[in-house]
Amino acid sequence: MDKNTRICIIGGGPAGLSAGMYLEKKGYNNYTILERQDRVGGKCWSPYYNGKRYEMGAIMGVPSYYAVHDVEEFCGITHDGPKLNRNYKNAAGEVIEPFARTLGNIIKNPWMLKMKGQLKKFGDLLETKYKGYDVNGHRGVAEGRYDGYAVTPGREKVQGENPNLKDLALPFKEFCEKNGVPLVQKIWIGPFTSFGYGYFDEIPAAYVLKYLDFQTCMNFVKVNLWTWEQGTQYIWEQLNDHIKHPARLNSAIEKVERHDGKVFVTVNGEVEEFDKIIVTAPLHIPGKRADGQKGMDEYFDVRDDEKELFSKIDYERYDVQAFLTKPENHPEISYYVFDNMVPEKLGHLMVYYRRWKDQIDQVITTYALRKHKNMEEIPYETCRQMVQDDLKIMHNPAEEVINEWSVYYFPHVFSEDYAAGWYDKVEAMQGKYDTYYAGEVMSFGDMDETAEYSRELVERFF
Ligand SMILES: Cc1cc2nc3c(=O)[nH]c(=O)nc-3n(C[C@H](O)[C@H](O)[C@H](O)COP(=O)(O)OP(=O)(O)OC[C@H]3O[C@@H](n4cnc5c(N)ncnc54)[C@H](O)[C@@H]3O)c2cc1C
Repeated sequence: MDKNTRICIIGGGPAGLSAGMYLEKKGYNNYTILERQDRVGGKCWSPYYNGKRYEMGAIMGVPSYYAVHDVEEFCGITHDGPKLNRNYKNAAGEVIEPFARTLGNIIKNPWMLKMKGQLKKFGDLLETKYKGYDVNGHRGVAEGRYDGYAVTPGREKVQGENPNLKDLALPFKEFCEKNGVPLVQKIWIGPFTSFGYGYFDEIPAAYVLKYLDFQTCMNFVKVNLWTWEQGTQYIWEQLNDHIKHPARLNSAIEKVERHDGKVFVTVNGEVEEFDKIIVTAPLHIPGKRADGQKGMDEYFDVRDDEKELFSKIDYERYDVQAFLTKPENHPEISYYVFDNMVPEKLGHLMVYYRRWKDQIDQVITTYALRKHKNMEEIPYETCRQMVQDDLKIMHNPAEEVINEWSVYYFPHVFSEDYAAGWYDKVEAMQGKYDTYYAGEVMSFGDMDETAEYSRELVERFF
């Protein structure tokens, strides 16, 4: 492609900004990033309280966040944040120890022994039967192939046939049962469901395992995690400061029309002309959202194939609240509430996060899901109250909410559409209308997978 190609990028979150960085690295300097909000970072949102930044969105990374590491290198920053630590409570607010931590405890506990056996088996199965399961993105999976880049520092291109990969379309619960390892769900559930990615009886195993590949999941178990002192938003603010064309904030896109080999974008009342467009903003949002966010199918001249495929996308209703507590009610550490990570406890508090070890006057953030595929959605206000009531049960009462949002979170498709080749159909459309699709739904809803997908998109098409 001509290096002077005029490229419009919609969205100044991790996917959009890293698309800009990778384009620039490849010699494309004629790109424009349009961001609807008055800040960059998207779901990496780190507001200030009392001189320090807290996290309303993304919190952590793992050592295999290679694309995020590219950004760190590009900007000369590093993951210098507070060490994460957590403990566990049951639904009654009692501190529990779900995993025996010492060998002596394991030997006394037959359940733990069984779990260890299944974990070992699962690791072996992923390496052998499911070879290729962990490449970024979903190309070929539904057809029993893998085609992408390895999750290694060198990110080698890997391709191959493996019919077993079709199993990844199954909900994760079914996938584990089919493989005789149901107990491993107890380990995967913490960094999956409580982080808002849905329930194991509804979400295809592909999403679970591409995000939490074996190594990454073990990093969560060992709390071998990265954070950033200035918050995750800082990573993307820094990137925005270091690229040649920072995102244009407060860009209200009214219309996008594609014809005659050109892309016409009406932004803040003016029509601008481009050659190509990369969409990292939501492709489809079922229903209306209070924050005014729209799917691209509402402001683009969408074609029938785009409309049909994107209509299959659903997302999680993941609510985050930031509370102030009295010093005597402050949790001494972050807590996971495992009992609340099942559909029967929809709307309840699943995790709450204390960020700064030595600071008493700080906000505590809480996380809850209020939608399951087969259940009635819990209204936002009801869920908010449930979370406050749960904090009392946890012995950490807090009434003063200083910040809150209901996130358009983890766009994905369900098993039937996954198995029917949704990803291969969308991948086949890349570039067709001078349009490229990137961002969370194309890979997975975390900082690294989205940035990595942008890297690959630039590698493959530009
Ligand atoms: C509570 C929470 C916790 C999380 N925890 C983690 C974590 O610990 N680790 C991790 O790696 N990830 C985490 N994530 C997920 C991570 O933040 C996202 O996956 C990542 O930000 C996705 O990047 P993106 O660029 O694809 O989308 P987004 O971050 O959503 O960015 C999209 C951007 O597009 C803009 N936009 C939308 N519509 C338009 C439009 N019409 N015109 C112009 N601009 C538009 C938006 O304003 C936004 O800035 C978390 C997210 C949340 C909410």
